Amino acid sequence: METIRLFDQDAYATTFQSRVSSVTPVTGSENCYEIILEQTLFFPEEGGQSPDLGTLGEGQVQNVQIHDNIITHTVCFHGPAPAVSDTITGTIDWDHRFSNMQNHSGEHIFSGIVHRLFGFENVGFHLSDNSVTMDYNGILSPEDIRRVEHLANEAIYENIAIQCDYPDEATLAALDYRSKKELSGPIRIVTIPGIDVCACCAPHVHRTGEIGLLKVIASQKYKGGIRLNILCGHRAMAHYTASMELLQNLSHRLSAGVDQLPEFIDRLTEDNRLLSGKLRDVSAAQLNKEIAGVDPDAKHVFLFTDAVDHLTLRNGVNALVSMHSGFCGIFCASKDGFSYIVGSASLDSREVGNVLRASFAAKGGGKPEMIQGSIQGVSSDALAAFLAEQFPS
Ligand SMILES: [Zn+2]
Repeated sequence: METIRLFDQDAYATTFQSRVSSVTPVTGSENCYEIILEQTLFFPEEGGQSPDLGTLGEGQVQNVQIHDNIITHTVCFHGPAPAVSDTITGTIDWDHRFSNMQNHSGEHIFSGIVHRLFGFENVGFHLSDNSVTMDYNGILSPEDIRRVEHLANEAIYENIAIQCDYPDEATLAALDYRSKKELSGPIRIVTIPGIDVCACCAPHVHRTGEIGLLKVIASQKYKGGIRLNILCGHRAMAHYTASMELLQNLSHRLSAGVDQLPEFIDRLTEDNRLLSGKLRDVSAAQLNKEIAGVDPDAKHVFLFTDAVDHLTLRNGVNALVSMHSGFCGIFCASKDGFSYIVGSASLDSREVGNVLRASFAAKGGGKPEMIQGSIQGVSSDALAAFLAEQFPS
């Protein structure tokens, strides 16, 4: 028998009683059951919206699904489960439900305005506990999005009464309404006068003012159209609070006013660029000095440096190779280890690469005359000692 949808009759009721129609243990779980009731306030996962949470008797409702108009609650109990024909009390998590109602009603307003202004359909809707996603089959520019967002908030401030009802067939046939799919059976129509008419099975707020605020927080191109993320009501407020805290934290850490942050960060970036350039120049000069100071009779030469670019590294190795007959390598400190280049005028440089790979899982490769790569998890002192032992000069 179809489950009576109490949430259709009153979206604001939080507690109900019902006789239990069926109790089935969940396979592989000791104290969880699939419970079917004659009637329920628990909205199932339907139309892109996540299910209600709450309690049924002494149990915690984990999931609510609907198939063939029969609603099944997955409930876990610490004590004994109810039996068929028992009367049980259910209570939905109101904060969770109301947040879903705010966000779902907000989505109708936004999609109704998009449809009226641009003719695009909402072809995908997902309302989970973490995000609200809408997919439209057309592109909206950033200006379009701000315009729709502004109009949606105007509709919220107007505090319009939202109607949910099941029109008779003749009324429905004459009605122009949005719908994501071909529907059969009685069709529930949610009307926001002047804004939107849409087929929908979910609970909605009584008046648009209860949505409080609608904010678009992300957009991306998606399947030839656009995917938007919005937040309404409590969720929008929480997002605003977190964003303000983040800005104030940055402002405090950088000792700059919030409105001066972009300019301040530009200045920091430029300072960093100039300093990095100077550090590279100093390091390169230091490296060249070391190269010039190497014993001319040394066969193998391995030097360590930091903060030089790839070209300086390569030029340094070439300079060493022109003066020494053995392996000549330079190891440049990087974020997690070293990048290196090793060359030789007469030996096969890959021999050094093989030894480094075998002992330190170094990466890289190249030709007999020059190899390059990276190495992690070893200090410069340990690496220098290892190379001196393997390739004594
Ligand atoms: Zn809907």
